[in-house]
Amino acid sequence: MYQVLYRKYRPKNFEDVVGQQIVVKTLQNAIKNNKISHSYIFYGPRGTGKTTLAKIMARAVNCSHPDGKLLCDECENCVVSRENECVDIIEIDAASNNGVDEIRELKSKVNLVPSSLNYKIYIVDEVHMLSMGAFNALLKTIEEPPAHSIFILATTEIDKVPETIISRCQTFSFERVSNNDIVRRLRYICDVEKINISDEVLFEIAKVSEGGMRDSLGMLDKLSIYKKGEITLDDFYKLNSLLGEKEIIDFITDFCMGNKQELVSRINDYFNSGKNIIQIANQLVYKLSDLIVDYYLKGNIPKAVNIERVELLANTLNEKMFEIKRSEHPNIYFEILILNVLRSFSNVLLKEKQEVAEVVEKKNETEEIKTVEKEIIEDKKISVDKKNEPSKRIDNSVENNLKFLYEVNDVRINNTFAEASKDSLLKNKNLFSKFSDFTFDTKIGYLICDIMDATIRAASERNVILSYEYDSSVKENLKNIDKLQSVYNQVTGLDVSLAFITDENWEKMKEEYIKNKKNGILYEYQEEPKLEEDNKSESDDVNSESIVEMFGDIVEYE
Ligand SMILES: [Zn+2]
Repeated sequence: MYQVLYRKYRPKNFEDVVGQQIVVKTLQNAIKNNKISHSYIFYGPRGTGKTTLAKIMARAVNCSHPDGKLLCDECENCVVSRENECVDIIEIDAASNNGVDEIRELKSKVNLVPSSLNYKIYIVDEVHMLSMGAFNALLKTIEEPPAHSIFILATTEIDKVPETIISRCQTFSFERVSNNDIVRRLRYICDVEKINISDEVLFEIAKVSEGGMRDSLGMLDKLSIYKKGEITLDDFYKLNSLLGEKEIIDFITDFCMGNKQELVSRINDYFNSGKNIIQIANQLVYKLSDLIVDYYLKGNIPKAVNIERVELLANTLNEKMFEIKRSEHPNIYFEILILNVLRSFSNVLLKEKQEVAEVVEKKNETEEIKTVEKEIIEDKKISVDKKNEPSKRIDNSVENNLKFLYEVNDVRINNTFAEASKDSLLKNKNLFSKFSDFTFDTKIGYLICDIMDATIRAASERNVILSYEYDSSVKENLKNIDKLQSVYNQVTGLDVSLAFITDENWEKMKEEYIKNKKNGILYEYQEEPKLEEDNKSESDDVNSESIVEMFGDIVEYE
């Protein structure tokens, strides 16, 4: 007969309990030092082990402790207490009928000595559900408990338990089990049960069950019945009506870009396909917090994603999660919530669009860009070497000329500093989102990805500095600069030369620039070495715009 995993792997001893180390340790010490209290309250979220630990406790206080074991599972008492029908361990579910009858019966029998164990244990589950009458009866009992009885009350809602009861109990708070602890336990069970599943999926299970061990096991149960072979993330998403990784990112991207219509139709799709919006909101919160952590620790963020908006959405969802859960129509609540947050920065979105328009107009390039845009929209295919052949500027035998490429690169970085402007930076940044349209292009997708990995740091009319986390990316991209530059210019409609730098070096150069600027040291435009075609001969006057103008608000400059 199939036994559900939750029952099969229910901890039978203190050592097997997942998480709750402080509670476990305290209870163990109480038994060891013979300082057992007569009434306990275990409170905390569902599925965190309250009833399980109550049952372990019930048996452990009765064990005769051979060889100093807290719960030997072998002595006479342990054999008796293992039985489901053990009359001295009484479980009362207060949720079933307010518990009035049970508590009355409890009261009438509580003074009788245990039939075979040392202690009679009353485990009252969901104690907050007791009626007032039942609470009062219980209170009388625990005010003067018989020496042989122990009460363990469990609840998910401690604030609904009368203070008079709480004050007579030793209270223990049960924490949500950490994702790592859940994954470790699930891994153990999967290995024993020969369930073929990766840790990645186990982690998703842990996340979705919000620190509840029982829910995690329930989910694993479902998955293992659903599929015999390897269980994948997709199986998990499908079975739980959740969104896949890409769908989540797409939602966040649409949000950041203010795509109201897309968001509304996404939310409708979720509803129509029977997805659970509460779980989806949860998934979003997790993804958003991953993005935020990544941004602050590593400086990474997907290009079309805006960190302020990500934080805004994360905070709003966190704040309103309770309301979403409680709402009669979570879908509608969620949809309105999203639209409301969008409205809060709609002015900013509008301004962004205007800024792009203004820049374009000012530079009198409107026609040119429109043409390029049209080209791009009409056929989403771009041949790599069609236009703006950079080999005119750089010696073609790239592999043998890495040193030369670095020299050119250095000059370009210098030149960007010399001519940089905030307008150019904004223009490049605003055009950057265009690249995402070509991510899946079979011909240039890999180049697009290389470009999108970068952060635009500074730009002039002629040069753009792209920075990367790793030195290896800089090197590889330099080797490939012809193609990258060609694609960059075709997609953006600009005519610029690219320079690459590591994030680390960028920070250094930026500081140096600020220092120099303060000391009146100016950067001069230099000729790029070995140019075949000299179309940028004039060494311009050094840029005298303020640093703030150049970097926008990226650099704080006093
Ligand atoms: Zn024992």
